[in-house]
Amino acid sequence: MNAVVETENRPYEGNFLREVEREVEGGDWVKMCMQCGVCAGSCPFGPHWEHTPQKIFMMIRAGKRQEVLASDAMWMCTSCYNCVVRCPRKLPITTIMHGLASYSNRLGLAPKMQPTRDFSLQFFNNFKRTGRVNELKLTIGLYFKDGLVAGIKKGWEMRHVALSLLKAGRLNPFELFGGHKCKDQKGIEAMFAKVDEIEAAEKAGK
Ligand code: SF4
Ligand code: SF4
Repeated sequence: MNAVVETENRPYEGNFLREVEREVEGGDWVKMCMQCGVCAGSCPFGPHWEHTPQKIFMMIRAGKRQEVLASDAMWMCTSCYNCVVRCPRKLPITTIMHGLASYSNRLGLAPKMQPTRDFSLQFFNNFKRTGRVNELKLTIGLYFKDGLVAGIKKGWEMRHVALSLLKAGRLNPFELFGGHKCKDQKGIEAMFAKVDEIEAAEKAGK
């Protein structure tokens, strides 16, 4: 909350590059960008970006904190790695874009109702419980995210696909009552606990 108010009042932050280097995965590479534009020209999503990676990196260096973190741009990256293989400075562009998305989400600055963000959160929460994605629960969660009426409408629209999947044995309604799990549930929990521990240690060391 404070972060939002603070950044709205101060759209230009002189130390934003340092913040990105400290907080964003791959962020310490941003200063290496030489603004050649190869990533912007190589991205299959090019004309549809609010800001290309090239522009985002320039904006970070210019201290446009609010504009970058509230942007829709980094949520649009499809991880095709076209930019990464072509960047003459070898920047891990995909990692930085996802790192910025994750950081803006952590700060509560990510655009609400952004579809990629919605899907990422639902996907992560879905598989985190059991170590496997329950596709039926994930689909229902996505259909009903905008409310009961919207969910029923979407389900009705997709009924032919659901029936086809049922007939082909690719949809099991009983997955709603549990579904597949990884055998080693304790191992899954331990893995996520370890991730939390590593992230906390990294944060404390900075
Ligand atoms: S291709 Fe690399 S160096 Fe060129 S603008 Fe993109 S990130 Fe910067
Ligand atoms: S990895 Fe992302 S930013 Fe890079 S070219 Fe593909 S979609 Fe564009």
